[in-house]
Amino acid sequence: MSRKRDIGRQRAYRAEGEVFGGHWYEAKCRSPLIGEQEAIEMHKRVSDFFIRRHGIKRRPPPLRFSDTARGSYHSTLEGCVYRRDMLRECVVLHEVAHWAAGYEDAAHGPKWQRMYAEAIAEFAGADLAAEFLRLCQELPIMQYSSRPKRKFRLEEWDKVNERWIPSSVARKSIPNWQRLQMWRGRVQWVGPRMLRMIEE
Ligand SMILES: [Zn+2]
Repeated sequence: MSRKRDIGRQRAYRAEGEVFGGHWYEAKCRSPLIGEQEAIEMHKRVSDFFIRRHGIKRRPPPLRFSDTARGSYHSTLEGCVYRRDMLRECVVLHEVAHWAAGYEDAAHGPKWQRMYAEAIAEFAGADLAAEFLRLCQELPIMQYSSRPKRKFRLEEWDKVNERWIPSSVARKSIPNWQRLQMWRGRVQWVGPRMLRMIEE
C-alpha cells in the first residue's frame, strides 16, 4: 500500500506534546502511565467508541506489547503495537485513532487528527481535544530538510574522442552499490562502459 507523504506528522506530534505536556516517552507527559491490563481495556473501549460513532465495519485492531519497538505504532498488518515500558492513555488513543482513520489519508493527516481529537474529547477532555486541533492548524512547521538536494549527472568515457560525455545510461539501471561507489567520486565500469558521476 502506498502511503502519502506524512506531512502532518511533525505538527501533530508537537501539538500532542503541547496538549499532554510532553510526549508519551517523556516523564513530564501528563497523560497517565498505565499497565498492560489497563491498556487492553482502554484499547477495547476506544475501539468500541469508534465503531459505535462511525459505524465502522472492520474488525477492531489486534494489539500486542513490545519491548523492542522504537515506539508504539499501528500498522494494517499488525494492528496496535504498544511499547511496554512507555504505556500511556494518550498512546492508546493515538494508535487506535490510526486504525479508525484508515490509511487513505497521510498517516498523521487531517483525518487521523480528527479521529484522535474525538478520542481525546471522549477519554481525556473536550478542551484538550479542541486545543489539539487548534495547534495542528496553527503550529509552524519547521523545515528540517532545507538543505538543497545535491544533484548529480552521469558521464561516460568516450574512447574514440577520449573525453567525458553525458551518458545515456539510465541511473536506475545501475545497481545501488555501484551508484554509491560513483557517488564517492570513483569511476566505475558498468558493463562495457566507464561511468562517473558529477555533482552539478
Ligand atoms: Zn502515529
